Amino acid sequence: MKNKTNKILDPRSKKETRDILTARSRPKTAGNWLVSQLREAIISGELVAGSAIRQDMLAEKYEVSRMPVRQALDVLAAEGWVVQRPHKGAVVADLNADDVIELFEVRTSLEKLAIARSFPNLTEEQIEDIEVAWNAYQEGDGDSLVLHQQFHLALYAAAGPRLIRLLMQQLDAAQRYLRFESSEIQNSDADQAEHIALIEAAKARDVAKGIEIIEAHVSEGGHGIAEKILKRGTDPDG
Ligand SMILES: [Zn+2]
Repeated sequence: MKNKTNKILDPRSKKETRDILTARSRPKTAGNWLVSQLREAIISGELVAGSAIRQDMLAEKYEVSRMPVRQALDVLAAEGWVVQRPHKGAVVADLNADDVIELFEVRTSLEKLAIARSFPNLTEEQIEDIEVAWNAYQEGDGDSLVLHQQFHLALYAAAGPRLIRLLMQQLDAAQRYLRFESSEIQNSDADQAEHIALIEAAKARDVAKGIEIIEAHVSEGGHGIAEKILKRGTDPDG
């Protein structure tokens, strides 16, 4: 594999990636803050899929005026978290079997690319970060979905800031579905074995092996969730 050609040379891109990965805890502007609060509320299920969004209630809850709420909803609509209905206001986007399959296919492509770009460039320090993230996930010290996401992002730490940004959007979107699925799929023995194999592949800088594992790991998850949505009849066609 010609893995030296995409070597990341500029230390700024490493710093930028680190900044992106830690940015969540300290958003810059009030508008960003509200967008991330509302996104978290949708991910956590506090704002329920398919339910109408009451702008006045949000304004009151977050102690802001209506204008920033409207602006935040526009951003979330552009990102697919909410759907704007003319003259009727916004609703939280519904969970949808076709959407989850598309989302997990997008994730698979991006995560394969992330492995191809990251693994050859991982520093020893970044390998240690992967193990730290893995231990935190194993110990379950915090929200397991967030810890799982952080573990995956640690694997891609050397992929480059543009790709990390794209991936984080998709991983956030996937969290909604993973929460709906609960813990069955993602904490299975097969999943754990795949995670351990991913760490081994990262340490060996083995891109081909990493890609093989991630393909199975991500797409199985997506299909499992789609089946569950259809069974439950949440999907309009289901
Ligand atoms: Zn995983």
